[in-house]
Amino acid sequence: LQLIEAGRPRRSDDGDKSDEEEKEDKAVQSLLNKLIRGNLVNNTNQVEVLQRDPNSPLYSVKTFEELRLKPQLLKGVYEIGFNRPSKIQENALPMMLAEPPQNLIAQSQSGTGKTAAFVLAMLSQVDPAFKWSQCLCISPTYELALQTGKVIEQMGKFYSEVKLAYAVRGHRMDRSCKIKEQIVIGTPGTVLDWCTKLKLIDPKKIKVFVLDEADVMIATQGHQDQSIRIQRMLSKGCQMLLFSATFEDSVWNFAERVIPDPNIIKLRREEETLDNIKQYYVLCKSKEDKFYSLCNIYGAITIAQAMIFCRTRKTANWLAGQMSEEGHQVGLLSGEMTVEQRAAVIERFKVGKEKVLITTNVCAREHLLFQFAIFQYPYWPQAGIDVEQVSVVINFDPPVDKEGYPDNETYLHRIGRTGRFGKRGLAINMVDSQKSMEILRQIEKHFNKKIMRLDTDDLDEIE
Ligand code: ADP
Repeated sequence: LQLIEAGRPRRSDDGDKSDEEEKEDKAVQSLLNKLIRGNLVNNTNQVEVLQRDPNSPLYSVKTFEELRLKPQLLKGVYEIGFNRPSKIQENALPMMLAEPPQNLIAQSQSGTGKTAAFVLAMLSQVDPAFKWSQCLCISPTYELALQTGKVIEQMGKFYSEVKLAYAVRGHRMDRSCKIKEQIVIGTPGTVLDWCTKLKLIDPKKIKVFVLDEADVMIATQGHQDQSIRIQRMLSKGCQMLLFSATFEDSVWNFAERVIPDPNIIKLRREEETLDNIKQYYVLCKSKEDKFYSLCNIYGAITIAQAMIFCRTRKTANWLAGQMSEEGHQVGLLSGEMTVEQRAAVIERFKVGKEKVLITTNVCAREHLLFQFAIFQYPYWPQAGIDVEQVSVVINFDPPVDKEGYPDNETYLHRIGRTGRFGKRGLAINMVDSQKSMEILRQIEKHFNKKIMRLDTDDLDEIE
């Protein structure tokens, strides 16, 4: 499988991204999330459900048995290691499997179980005795389609009569006859070709239509129109499902155009806070001086893992070199790497093979990447317990936006966390100019959380 294209080198990390690049980033980040994620994302918020027919009983399930899945599917679910439905699945699955089938718009952040939910719905609705396409799922990119395909293959492991076809570019097909695979997953352009020009699929025979990652989809030129054209060809009775990690107005407008009479399920993203995070700043004179201070910090406290953010790739490279020379195991994450290379670096850091991860802002917007990473192990000195290790987030440069203004959101994503369960953290900001100090002061003011001065020549106070 070639996953290279999504992460091809294309720009500097210095902040001046074009709109097109930003859009492409969405798909890359989504893919990266899928590649590195292992588990369900925790979310303690309540699921909000808006039923199309408020009079019909709202029902949710706490077990997979309650869904009366086909035995081969239930076996597949357990084989993957799912014990019970995720929060969003508790509501989405009964709705999707209801008779008659219900349309659904569902929104929750990535990692909450949306893919697994619609895959299960598609596999449940398929009749393997019929050798034509019955379920159609469209994804924003080739790589994302392949990831979803893998989930279908995993879940359908004991349901081998059901076959899957990939409608993605480069997949040459003769126009001669209809395909026999019951499930088709692909990108909008190719799926449209398969339905129209090549006539490989009869859209009227599709029973379940899934539009995945709607927010990423509409960020790509042309995908929105293609999706709508596909949807228009489906029969009236076709079940239509739309999923999105975020819900800006543009996604809503699109969702309402493609999903008639929808039920709506929302799980709000858990808010991040800076509570329980000790924030410091260190005054330095230069880049070299910042590195020197960093060494002092390493000399004074036992750091389990550190994640260090630099503004430019050049600084990140330089710092990685310096830290390696000092004997640290350093991972470097930057924009010129392919998405697979990035996933591999993050994975190594996650399992502790690397103790330091140096990165530019390249993935900062998708804070999920970082949430797990640094504060997964709550090493923190507790009263009465002696030697403990700490994990640290270091802003080697303060986060700024394209115009050079303080980027509060990115600051929060790097340092903050969700959940209120006693996870503590340590964050250190390196400051080497009046301007940087000013930025940090504004960030401090924005969050109304004190950022304390740390004197790295006298580090007693950090303990
Ligand atoms: P999303 O589509 O919302 O990003 P996924 O369906 O990909 O989420 O699920 C995220 C991760 O959680 C995947 O690794 C998936 O295997 C796992 N997962 C999904 N549903 C469950 C469940 N009910 N129990 C345990 N793990 C699950």
